[in-house]
Amino acid sequence: MRLVIKFGGASIASAADVASVAGFLRSASGGPNRVVGVCSAMDGTTDDLIRVSSLIRQEKKDDARRTADRIILRHKKAAEGSVKKAGARKRLLRGLERDFAELRSLVDGMSLLGEVTRRSSDHLLSFGERMSARIVSAAVSDLGARSSPFTGKEIGIVTDSNFGESKPLMDTTRLRVSKNMDGLFGEGLIPVVGGFAGADQHGHVTTLGRGGSDYTATIIGSCIGADEIWLMSNVDGMMTADPRIVGDARVIGEVSYAEAIEMALFGAKQIHPRTFEPVLSKKIPIRIRNAFNTEGPGTLVTGTPGSLAAKTVKCVSTIPNNGLIDIRGGSMVGSPGTAASIFATLARAGINVMMISQNPSESSITIVVKKTSLDRAVHALEVEHLGKVIKKLEVTSDVAIVALIGAGMRGTAGVASRALGAAASRRLNVVMITQGSSEVNLAFVVRDQDAEDAVRAIHDEFGLARIAGG
Ligand code: ASP
Ligand code: MG
Repeated sequence: MRLVIKFGGASIASAADVASVAGFLRSASGGPNRVVGVCSAMDGTTDDLIRVSSLIRQEKKDDARRTADRIILRHKKAAEGSVKKAGARKRLLRGLERDFAELRSLVDGMSLLGEVTRRSSDHLLSFGERMSARIVSAAVSDLGARSSPFTGKEIGIVTDSNFGESKPLMDTTRLRVSKNMDGLFGEGLIPVVGGFAGADQHGHVTTLGRGGSDYTATIIGSCIGADEIWLMSNVDGMMTADPRIVGDARVIGEVSYAEAIEMALFGAKQIHPRTFEPVLSKKIPIRIRNAFNTEGPGTLVTGTPGSLAAKTVKCVSTIPNNGLIDIRGGSMVGSPGTAASIFATLARAGINVMMISQNPSESSITIVVKKTSLDRAVHALEVEHLGKVIKKLEVTSDVAIVALIGAGMRGTAGVASRALGAAASRRLNVVMITQGSSEVNLAFVVRDQDAEDAVRAIHDEFGLARIAGG
């Protein structure tokens, strides 16, 4: 069995965590199994590196250097605590010293210029995974297995040059990764690959976007024709709701890819939204499991979900802190191109639109954007359209999206009425509703302060605590 096992940052937060992750990798690779480890940066490291880059941008050179030194110290400690054999530890520290030296000179170089480009930022951010992969791999070797660390670039992940949010060029990547992996498997090695980063065709380091280590795992899984991919984090799996909001939220036993994509987007569990793309055609099953509770079955993501698929709603989640803009104007009615010009304006201003609805009378279009981009969105629309096609913009800040997800909603009558009824019975005012025709996701908008009540109401109404399955 070929297995890719990815560990999130929270599951390698300390030396003790690293040791247990190494033990897990080692035991998974018993017998005929071929195992690849993929790891995120140690918990909080990417955030710290982002802090370094913003300090550089503010020309706070000493603070940037100090923050980088703290990152370095933390990794040194983790390395010392997770590898017992003296020789192995020395080798690890020697390797890490090279990373530290390069990190320091990168920070100094960027500070000297006081400039952070998308390219230099990616190079900087890639250090988290580079160092964690080295440490995890050494800890695996320490247990007597053979292992080597790799960066995404070294293992052959080739991407476009869209720094910060790059996409793999799958044909080239497939050739390189499968060739490299076959060689490593042939030598009986357990490769440990740092997630999140790759390199473009010029060899410049790129990153896949926040949370990108999940994506690295599925890219590699697809390239080597893995039998399964396990995403290990610090939660038991995909849940019916956020357990901090709903006391009796449960782990969902099985979901389809389509549902998993919706759930990733809606943050029921933070997963890079493109994670499932590389495995769709090969239908490689993905298990979402808890690194701290390896007995738990987790959530199986598969192309062929079993009987559970018949259940209507599987989970309910909420995204708070958004703004809603209602765009009105009589001359919008029956005039082709209005929507296009409105969205072109928003796109030019770099604004991501999360929800859209237009009533059939065409006299208004309502959109939802992140609160952080609300002012920019309103400003851009006013400058380009107010007094022309748009007569009025009505803005509501502090709204939350509540989303119900489940493939079984397709063709099932009454889901929307039950959902809205549940909200109404708690006197929660719904200000907008959308459902795509795929019917995997039904979303509505309420005031921020009503969001958690709405989630609890939906969870109760659909009995999600009972239907989750194990
Ligand atoms: N370290 C990166 C991040 O924090 C990638 C990942 O964790 O998956 O976003
Ligand atoms: Mg992470």
